[in-house]
Amino acid sequence: MNLTDHEPLWMMPSTYAARRIVSSLYIHVPFCHSKCAYCDFFSIAGADDDLIDAWHGGIRYELQRIGEEAECHGVVIAPLETIYFGGGTPSFLDSDIIESIITYAKTLFGLSDCCDITLETNPESIVGNLTCVDNKHGEEVVDRWVEAGVNRISFGLQSANDSLLRLSQRRHTLEQAIEAVNIASDAGIRDISVDLMTGLPTQTVEDIDYALQTVAQLPVNHVSSYALTVEKGTPFHRFQAEHPECFPDDDAERLMNRRLTEGLLELGFAHYELSNYAFPGAESKHNLVYWHADPYLAAGPAAASYMGGIRRCNHDSIERWLSNVRDAAQGPYGQAIVEEVVDEKSARIETMILGLRLLRGVSRSCFKCRHEIDCVELFGEEIAHFEETGLLECTEDAVRLSSSGLDFADLVVRAFL
Ligand code: SF4
Repeated sequence: MNLTDHEPLWMMPSTYAARRIVSSLYIHVPFCHSKCAYCDFFSIAGADDDLIDAWHGGIRYELQRIGEEAECHGVVIAPLETIYFGGGTPSFLDSDIIESIITYAKTLFGLSDCCDITLETNPESIVGNLTCVDNKHGEEVVDRWVEAGVNRISFGLQSANDSLLRLSQRRHTLEQAIEAVNIASDAGIRDISVDLMTGLPTQTVEDIDYALQTVAQLPVNHVSSYALTVEKGTPFHRFQAEHPECFPDDDAERLMNRRLTEGLLELGFAHYELSNYAFPGAESKHNLVYWHADPYLAAGPAAASYMGGIRRCNHDSIERWLSNVRDAAQGPYGQAIVEEVVDEKSARIETMILGLRLLRGVSRSCFKCRHEIDCVELFGEEIAHFEETGLLECTEDAVRLSSSGLDFADLVVRAFL
């Protein structure tokens, strides 16, 4: 069954838990050149070739098992509409490995003609002499990705201020990032996104203005923003303990976020999700699957999947993940990695709280089509309360956060749980 011939999944009239068609794949690449000062994601700095080969073998094995077991569990894997290499630093991989995984996924599941294949990339993988992947020139590296099928790159730019990049222990300079983005564009990558952070120590609104000026001169059609969370055990956690005055407070961070939003709107980006901005048609297809609460496959250590109404998360250790994937009694559909069996009640809540992240909100007709009840009837009390306080807007078509509600999204969402 080819999903491109059908309505989007989230429009299909079936109960949430019964939806068993999946056409998105996430691959977790747990390797980085080095650790950034704020990061507590599962990633290994400077992995050697043996470990990377073991991971690559494990991914191929897991994909094969997903294909075999899907059938046994009544899950239909449609030709893939999206593949997303996230990490970690997927661009740390040799391009042959990226090509091998895409080709294998295509053999197993098929790819739709317009499959969106995203590679999260750090600029130093393309530009600079820092353990550059493949030891090839940047243009050749990107050309190989394009040949492999990558058509979307999400760059970890984070800041346009070199001192903030150094403080965050990023491995690139602004100049290198600009060059890397231009090389990707010249190589024919049609969709380019950059990540920007707010709330970094010593960061000011002027830094945001400078980031906006940088974005304005780059060939990018998507921007994701991330507010810094200081995680325990990271260098920033220790830095904050010693110099709390260096970290912007909530008001300062809110100002930065507002400035970023205003500036991106002025540049023609649409604010389509709480932290994401895109030119028309350049929204992240893969991430929309998450916000629509649609199912997706996932492979790799620490990767989370959602299939047939079950959320699973792989072990966040390469050794445990490998042994689990190879265990005939476990594998990608094993009980050991079940995080949650989503019943209809939870499914309704998920559709609501994930949909509220989108600026267009939750479509009432789609909600009814999916869950056989109007969301305004189901969540009448919560919606009425936040309408009165001005944080939610409810029309005949949709329920969405108001412009003032965007700053209090967490508060609103919590009320639906
Ligand atoms: S590159 Fe990304 S995943 Fe790797 S350490 Fe830095 S923030 Fe974390």
